[in-house]
Amino acid sequence: MADVLHTEDEFIFDKKMVCPVCDKPFTTKVLKSNRARRLGADADLRPRFEYIDTLKYGVCSCPNCGYSAMHSAFPNVVSRQIANIKEQVCTHFLPENRSGWTVYTYDQAIAMNEMALRCAEAKMAKDGEKSYLHMVISWLYREKEKEAENISDEALRAQQAEYCHSKAESHYMEAFEGFQRAMMNEMTPIMGLNQPTLEYIIAYMAFHFGKLEVAAKLIGSVLTTSSASRNVKDRALELKDEIIRLIKEKKSGAK
Ligand SMILES: [Zn+2]
Repeated sequence: MADVLHTEDEFIFDKKMVCPVCDKPFTTKVLKSNRARRLGADADLRPRFEYIDTLKYGVCSCPNCGYSAMHSAFPNVVSRQIANIKEQVCTHFLPENRSGWTVYTYDQAIAMNEMALRCAEAKMAKDGEKSYLHMVISWLYREKEKEAENISDEALRAQQAEYCHSKAESHYMEAFEGFQRAMMNEMTPIMGLNQPTLEYIIAYMAFHFGKLEVAAKLIGSVLTTSSASRNVKDRALELKDEIIRLIKEKKSGAK
């Protein structure tokens, strides 16, 4: 039997929505639940699915006024927040015709997540929500950086890769700093992440930015928390080995 090839559009559907900010109807693309098969995750828990990058579909965005938010947060805006969003986001937004969109490109997904971030700032969302968006935008730029490898013109390729890389890094740093504030000020779970999972993600980010002491401290906490999942503990152990190796390297290099 021949292998069946699947395409991204099989895993999503158009859902009718009414925007709570401008009251107009529109359709958004939504993941079919439990349809895509999870392949695993990157070292920082960025999820990977077969045939589709589910991260592109996390945000719901109104094409009429620009109001955007994670699907779970989309309906939850109060009148004062709506006024701020209208003033700070909608007045700068030109309505878009998205009827021709079949699947989201990385550019479209990044643009909608950036709109969601602007709305989160306008509605004075908590650090957790904003940091989660920064993390997703960083992950999307990382993917766009990979796509840049296919650009044939060498100068253009290098320029695009560098642009995406610097965007990915700056959003990752915002997420790293914001998640640390969220851990101090907010109750977990934060955006669906329980405490040890979030500690692990922050530890990985600290490791990424060379802040080994911060990373080591958080890993210690993950490993002693009983509510940490086996997967998160296994990953924490791997990261711990890597941190120890780097600290040793640093010491021997300092001699
Ligand atoms: Zn709207």
